[in-house]
Amino acid sequence: GKAPPPREAPVRAPSNAELAGAELNARVEALLRQMTLEEKVGQLAQYSQGVPTGPGTGRADHEQMVRAGAVGAFLNLVGAKETNRLQRLAVEHSRLKIPLLFGFDVIHGHRTLFPVPLGLASSFDPAQVEQAMRRAATEAAADGIRWVFSPMTDIARDARWGRIVEGSGEDPYLGAALARAYVRGYQGASLAAPTSVAASVKHFAAYGAAEAGRDYHTVDLSDVSLRQVYLRPYQAAVEAGAATLMSSFNTLNGVPATGNPYLLTGILRQEWGFNGFVVSDWNSIQELVNHGTALEGAAAARQALTAGVEMDMEGNLYAPELPRLVRSGQVPEAVVDEAVRRVLRVKFALGLFERPYADETAGPPAPTPESREQARRMAEASIVLLKNEGRVLPLGDAVQRIAVVGPLADSRINMMGCWPARGDAREHVTLRDALERRWKGRVVYAKGTDVLSPGTEGFQEAVKAAASADAVIAALGEEARSMTGEAASRTSLGLPGNQEQLLAALAATGKPVILVLFNGHPLVLTGLQAHARAIVEAWYPGIETGNALVNLLSGEVNFSGRLPVTLPRGVGQVPLYYNQLSTGRPPGAVDLTRPPTASENKYISRYIDEQNAPLYPFGYGLSYTDFAFSAPALSAQGLKAAAVPRQGAALQVKAQVRNTGAVEGTVVAQLYLRVRGASTAQPVRQLAGFARVHLAPGEAREVVFPLGFEELSFVNARSERVVEPGTHYDVWVGDSSEARAHVDFMME
Ligand code: BGC
Repeated sequence: GKAPPPREAPVRAPSNAELAGAELNARVEALLRQMTLEEKVGQLAQYSQGVPTGPGTGRADHEQMVRAGAVGAFLNLVGAKETNRLQRLAVEHSRLKIPLLFGFDVIHGHRTLFPVPLGLASSFDPAQVEQAMRRAATEAAADGIRWVFSPMTDIARDARWGRIVEGSGEDPYLGAALARAYVRGYQGASLAAPTSVAASVKHFAAYGAAEAGRDYHTVDLSDVSLRQVYLRPYQAAVEAGAATLMSSFNTLNGVPATGNPYLLTGILRQEWGFNGFVVSDWNSIQELVNHGTALEGAAAARQALTAGVEMDMEGNLYAPELPRLVRSGQVPEAVVDEAVRRVLRVKFALGLFERPYADETAGPPAPTPESREQARRMAEASIVLLKNEGRVLPLGDAVQRIAVVGPLADSRINMMGCWPARGDAREHVTLRDALERRWKGRVVYAKGTDVLSPGTEGFQEAVKAAASADAVIAALGEEARSMTGEAASRTSLGLPGNQEQLLAALAATGKPVILVLFNGHPLVLTGLQAHARAIVEAWYPGIETGNALVNLLSGEVNFSGRLPVTLPRGVGQVPLYYNQLSTGRPPGAVDLTRPPTASENKYISRYIDEQNAPLYPFGYGLSYTDFAFSAPALSAQGLKAAAVPRQGAALQVKAQVRNTGAVEGTVVAQLYLRVRGASTAQPVRQLAGFARVHLAPGEAREVVFPLGFEELSFVNARSERVVEPGTHYDVWVGDSSEARAHVDFMME
């Protein structure tokens, strides 16, 4: 990789004050002075349960390696007993007694209490997400884990990408707000608290922009898009004090992210002042050889370390190669020292030297009534009502008999999402469980089909059940483990197998069908619309799936989730996202539902066989009540670019929102901006504020959106974040990215 271009911006203040204290640094330096080169390199090596068998190590076993000080961290080793066993070897039997760090993929709760991250994002509720992650941290720490590989802050605009489910969706503003929430939740008020875990912000960088949505694929991005869209959530997480980052598998503009000095040194260290450490992704240092930027392992190790990757996850290259590279003068020992410092700082800050052990007597954390209640509330906030024709929902007490059908109606394992961590499927409440409890003796269940099945043997029983009921709930979607998450990209985004056929058969009974979707990709629902009177996007809601859904379906709790991703009409539109740039040929008022006629201008930015519009836009979600927004008002009539402060609000936008319906409900009030006259083309709309507002029937409330530098600025062609004089701002307020209430102002 090339050296980062010199940047004028001075090195920022350290991103995490807890890693920067004089006392802590003195301890790090004192320890570093005692370390042999092999011990230093040991701190940079991370292994999982498997015994490393790579070149140089043979079949050395973990215990030997820990005693020798040859391991800095583990992953996938969990449980206080097991982690304590190895920790004891490190702190009692290795020469320097440096504690190990145990990392694990805890992404939506250690016991998968909570919805998958895309579901969490649908809540538009950073405060609640922070509390959920606080719980996740407490549970993970009690199980021997002080480091989680989360949050995934990769912006994803391509619905085909399997990992879109692991992140916060397509929007950088929402993504940044949630990134902060995760980090604050995990790391708590202080890393040193025994209930805090270090976050690992991943995957740095732009992993979600994989070409054609294919996992691990090439990423080519302009610096403007990189900075304006993709980097914002990682930066927010770093500014919130994230202790670690994980580098990504992809290349970025030709340079693999895991060996990319522009990203890892130029942006992360020099611009953002990051003072934690970077871990590679699984074996991603070794993958530099496959990328073709390194001929063999030693070159890969040198490339990654000098670019700014401090820890080698599972690649087993740093440990065998770095001592040789240092001794032969190919890597300065100072570079190794700096890497070791960063790792040790995190270990000291976590208090591992004082309290290396987890409490074994407590046993692994089990769900409690209180944690279930928190999980249920989080799930309720994350489920999105997409369609409710003729107000078929809520299901009233008048409903005598309910048929619940489909492969996901009673599948505990699927409610755990794609990273089950230490979840226990038996603890998960399915939709069927909860329906049977709520409508005792009045629920009939039939599976109908499997998620991936060509056969229709089960249809008859399902249709019979539907025909016998007043309402049919069809629980359909994707298999969480095999069809969503890593290495699970798809080119078709319909319901897999014959589920759509099953849905059509259910609809043919004439009974109202309520489709409840459990899925990780934003699906194409166009063909399904006709078969379902109501559509509920549940994602994978976690341990309280059934209870949350029944509360919503029965109307005991109102729907409040909103889409954090655009749902396309067809796969051919993908990537489709709301905050696109305008072209020079916008369609204007032309009817895009049919091909252009001979007399119409066809040279506009459109398809001839599909609309540009999505099926459901970003920010969208229905409620059992209705909300109306007043025209927004500004606290000042215009602004001066030079006077916009870096911190704090420059302007406030106020709007009144009223619950005009008959039941209480929560609206997600959203503010969108468009900037024109700027030196770079800006999105047709960009989210720049949101707030959940709970309102009783008839109640009105004023929502105040502060606009500061974060909201008003954009990236210019010199890669700087700026506000520019002579620009015009349109502002819309409403309850989706199609918000209509409008006001505008000039930036002088
Ligand atoms: C994934 C990471 C994960 C790591 C450790 C990798 O394959 O890309 O997201 O944290 O494995 O399990």
